[in-house]
This record gives sequence, C-alpha cells and structure tokens, in this order.
Amino acid sequence: MKSKFIIFKNIFILLSIFFPISSQGIELDFIETKPGLFVHFGKHEDSNNKNLGDIANVSFLIGKKSVMVVDTGSSPAIGKEIIKEIKKKTNKPISHLVITHGHPDHFLGMSSFIKEKSIQKIIGHEKLSRSLILNFDFYQNQSLESTSDDSLNDAFLVLPNLTVESGKTLKIDLGDRPIKIKAWRSGHTDNDLSIYDEKTKTILTENIFVHRTPSITASIVGWKKTLEEMLEMEFEYIIPGHGELKSKEDAIKPMLNYFNNLISQVRKFHSESKDLDYAIKNTLVKNKHNWLLYEEYHPRNVSRTFTELEWE
Ligand SMILES: [Zn+2]
Repeated sequence: MKSKFIIFKNIFILLSIFFPISSQGIELDFIETKPGLFVHFGKHEDSNNKNLGDIANVSFLIGKKSVMVVDTGSSPAIGKEIIKEIKKKTNKPISHLVITHGHPDHFLGMSSFIKEKSIQKIIGHEKLSRSLILNFDFYQNQSLESTSDDSLNDAFLVLPNLTVESGKTLKIDLGDRPIKIKAWRSGHTDNDLSIYDEKTKTILTENIFVHRTPSITASIVGWKKTLEEMLEMEFEYIIPGHGELKSKEDAIKPMLNYFNNLISQVRKFHSESKDLDYAIKNTLVKNKHNWLLYEEYHPRNVSRTFTELEWE
C-alpha cells in the first residue's frame, strides 16, 4: 500500500509540474505586449464553471516608481492571481487600480486588491459607484450561479476613491510613464474609462470589441459617436476589454461598420412601421461569422437599437 501511495504521490508531483494547478483552480498568463505593458487575454466565452469567469482582459503597466492595474477580473480568486503574477514580474508597488466600467468580469476581483496596502488610488468614472451599488448583489449572485466559484462568496463592494468626470481626462505619472485616463459620456456603458499609455501609444478600452459582438447596454448612437471621436485621437494600438491587441483602424472600423449598418436598417424598419420581431429576424450583418457570440448578443443589440431609435 505504501509503495502505491508513493507512486500516486509522484505521479501527482509530475502532473503538477507539467499542468500547474493553483489552489483557486485558476491560472493567468500575462504577456508583455509592449515594453512594461502586460496583458492577460481572457477567453472569448461567457462565464461558466470551466473558465471560472476568465473572460475579460486584465492589464498592468510598470513605471519607474510604481504599477497601475487595469481591471480585476471577475472573481476574488482571479484578483488574487493577478496580484501574484504582478509580483513575479516586478517588485515595484501597485499604486493605482483602474476599473474600466461596472461590469462583473472587470470589477468582481476588486476585494482581493484591498489587502494591498500600497494601493493609494482606486480610479473609476464618476458614474461607476452608482452602477456598482445598484448592481453588486445581482452580479455576485449571477456570477456564482454561472461559475460556482466559491471565492465569489468573499467578494465585497469596493468603491473608487478617485473619480473622473464625464468628458474629462485625469493624468497620472507612474514614474517616467505618463498615463491619461479619460471618462466617456457614452459607450459600452455610461461609466467607461479609457487608459492611454503615452510611452507605447497604446489605449486600453472596453469601448472596443475585437472580433466579439459588442453588447450594447447604453446608447448605440452615443457609442458610435465615441468610436468616431476615438478614431480622431492620437494613438496607435488598442488593447480591447475583450480580444487581441490591434492597430487603431483595424479595431475601430469593423465596429463602426456594424453600428452604422444596424442603425440604418433599424431606421428603415421604423419608417416602414415594422415591429421589433420583424427587425430581429431581418436585420442582417455582413460577415457575421467574424463576430463571436453573435447569436448571444446580436438579437439583443437589435432590440436595444429598435427601442432607442423608435422616437427619434
Ligand atoms: Zn462590459
């Protein structure tokens, strides 16, 4: 019996070497996409008990003085894992945590960061707190249901201690690393921030969905305006909230086409007095196979657009 146990134990040790298993069951890999800018690319899926909510991008930027983290993933277990990975890459303290917007795959890891005493500022849009207070319990329960991740039971509400007004930009220097954080009026939600890293001419933003069907939760017309404004901004690369790093035009143009197409078709249906059912069945999208999660999000987008444009 004893020898069998040793064999099992050795097999387990070997397996652990080749297939690392963390205590929370989640492992994140961060890639240095640009100098000092690390990104973990989440999976293109909805949360489930296999991906454990690892569905959104998480990034961190290292300056000469300190580190800024952008988003926290969708559970305290993911938050903890992010901190662990940052500490493997740098011994600089984490000084800033930025929440790009109030969706659970981006903020539910926040409570793990509270233990990091070096964090001075938790930054959010002026409308973020309202969204978090209203939706925290709902998102926590919804995420528990979809992932069965126990660590979510330990999640608690954390609010930003530095907010950015709609339309304004906040400047932060991490030590020879100037960062500009802009609060948008309307986009993916009503509380979106974008983070611009001057050093690498890269913008991190949830307003851009690469390959993944954008989910319209605020105004399509507002979001379209934001995208047009972004096209005029001076940056070269985009790290989206979901999807890979892209050049500015490659990332924004397909989304703008999708939005313009949706708006013009829905306007036409309204002018012909067609109903919502008709619009959902008949709003066509070019190259729909290029859009992941199309079946999940596109009909909802049509329905949102239909309501928004009904009385214009
Ligand atoms: Zn979102």
